[in-house]
Amino acid sequence: MTVSQTITSKELFERSKKVSPGGVHSPVRSFRSVGGNPVFFKSAQGAVLTDVEGKSYLDYCLSFGPLILGHRDPEIEEVVKQTVETAWSFGAAEPYSLELAEWIVSKIPWVEKIRFVNSGTEAVMSALRVAKAATGRDKILKFDGCYHGHLDALLVKAGSGLAGESSSDSAGIGSEMIRNTLVLPLDNENLVEELFSKEGKNIAAVIIEPLPANYGLLVQRKEFLQKLASVAKKHGALLIFDEVISGFRMGLTGMSGMLGIEPDLVTYGKIIGGGFPVGAYAGKAEFLDLVAPQGPVYQAGTLSANPFGMRAGLATLKKCERDNVYASLEEKTLQLTQGLLSIFRKYDVESEWACTTQGSLFWFHRKSASPIRTVDSIPNGHKEAFAKVFHLLLGEGVYLAPSGYEVGFLSLAHTSEIIAQTLEKAEASFKKA
Ligand SMILES: *Cc1c(COP(=O)(O)O)cnc(C)c1O
Repeated sequence: MTVSQTITSKELFERSKKVSPGGVHSPVRSFRSVGGNPVFFKSAQGAVLTDVEGKSYLDYCLSFGPLILGHRDPEIEEVVKQTVETAWSFGAAEPYSLELAEWIVSKIPWVEKIRFVNSGTEAVMSALRVAKAATGRDKILKFDGCYHGHLDALLVKAGSGLAGESSSDSAGIGSEMIRNTLVLPLDNENLVEELFSKEGKNIAAVIIEPLPANYGLLVQRKEFLQKLASVAKKHGALLIFDEVISGFRMGLTGMSGMLGIEPDLVTYGKIIGGGFPVGAYAGKAEFLDLVAPQGPVYQAGTLSANPFGMRAGLATLKKCERDNVYASLEEKTLQLTQGLLSIFRKYDVESEWACTTQGSLFWFHRKSASPIRTVDSIPNGHKEAFAKVFHLLLGEGVYLAPSGYEVGFLSLAHTSEIIAQTLEKAEASFKKA
């Protein structure tokens, strides 16, 4: 589509609503959480997005995480161009996925084998299937406040009754789909032990984001995650770390490396495709060898290990390693968030702001007396307070993810100059308001 200079986001949204549900292809993009019309973007470079009306924005959403080097990093773009000229898809064995697999296996000691799929959702779905096959059990334990993609079995939240009970988090999910999913709140070892003492022999796996980053940023205590690992092990359940966001963002070995906890299976996505659709599940060979054609667990994909994702992903990961991006990303994140916080506090008299950060992830929220580790401890009025800040920043050309429950991301393209510009824009916007 060629986008003419005169078209507006509003016009495109009206048209889009006629042909797609809610006018979008993934719900949060609709701006429903913050109100107003979604911006339609036409291009991006580095830290900057450009909308169809020609206005530019400094991007702190970054496609929800994959773009750790920013948009169209020149080195990755070169690899993508080479891929255009080599092959777009094989549907056959090729060396590009092998190279990415070998690289990942070489970095993470307990990852012995990996299978590539097309999304994080698919990775989680497949990992659960493997866990059920490996244990011969049917139940899965998950935690409220963790997101694992939109597979039926995990679109489930805590029920109103007993601890562990669940109810569906979406229409269209039959009770038979969720009967085997148990749900607990985060940050509570006692509930985990109680549930395992009752249900342990039926639980195939416990799945958790070791850094929950899809319902705000609910940083967990290491002791909680260690306890989870030991209780699962004691009862013969597999531990699955969903590192679709945290993998290769919290350093090259992800949260599991930072915590020193080895899960049985891990899921990846986002960064490992360098901005192209990808997912992966990985772990110890004894589990991955259960997957077809080696083993009895069926899992397949027409476009799996597509060369764009494989080659862009490997180039991205190698660059992260070569340039040791993590320390500088963390430093920039603190520059940004501390700068923004002092501006928020200076001008926004209604609510006292705080920010939780972890590496290059950040999440603004209202101040709370203790660290926010569970869904229930998110301060009241968060959504509305965030919506106000979101629109103030958007007006001056700073783009945050359009929901108070999404985290913000930084990339290598977010230089000190970009951060200084961001703070200037924020100050200008708050001053006017
Ligand atoms: C994004 C995400 C997913 C889902 O990945 P998709 O590629 O969107 O299907 C699953 N788990 C976590 C932790 C994620 O952040």
